[in-house]
Amino acid sequence: MKISKFTVNPFSENTFILWNEEGGSATVIDPGMSNKHECDMLMDFMNKNRLVVENVLLTHEHVDHIMGTGFLVEKYNCKVYGHTADIELGMKADVQLRMFNLSCEMKPFTVSDYVVDGDIIDFCGEKIEVLHTPGHSAGGVVYYLPESGCSFVGDTIFQMSIGRTDLTGGDYDTLISSIKNKLFSLPEDTVLYPGHGGATTVGEEQMYNPFVRG
Ligand SMILES: [Zn+2]
Repeated sequence: MKISKFTVNPFSENTFILWNEEGGSATVIDPGMSNKHECDMLMDFMNKNRLVVENVLLTHEHVDHIMGTGFLVEKYNCKVYGHTADIELGMKADVQLRMFNLSCEMKPFTVSDYVVDGDIIDFCGEKIEVLHTPGHSAGGVVYYLPESGCSFVGDTIFQMSIGRTDLTGGDYDTLISSIKNKLFSLPEDTVLYPGHGGATTVGEEQMYNPFVRG
């Protein structure tokens, strides 16, 4: 499984692509493309690698993580996975845009496949496990790929930091508990890909993250 990253939109959000060199299907995690240039960039990547987007996986429904979803659904008629507890957030994407003083032509979409903690999504023969990790938002989830030894964590944790908890559905104690009890139960060499900034590992954060270190 190959992992590619595009950093997009005014929030410098990481949009990840899971794909195989042989071409075929791609999974996009948190499509945050906010304009034509960013959508074209993603399309060029898909075309160059002979890929068709099969799935979109949403770690949560803050607007910077979902802006490009409608574009992909329109283009590829792909499935969209997300947690029910973030439905309302997703429906209020326009309110979120106004809150951050952003104008962006976001195409509407609906989540087609709701996930719960423990669900397993199959992508090209590789298992993707769903961990419900509320606290940054109520419906925040982490997607864990045991075979590849990595996790896509959205805004649950960042290198040496954690997600903000002052937005709708956020709760500090819940977030700390999600990180310590769910995320930190993964093997310590698991690579964590956050929604903003660089990658880290479970072990590194357990050791050095000032918010949650042991
Ligand atoms: Zn967020």
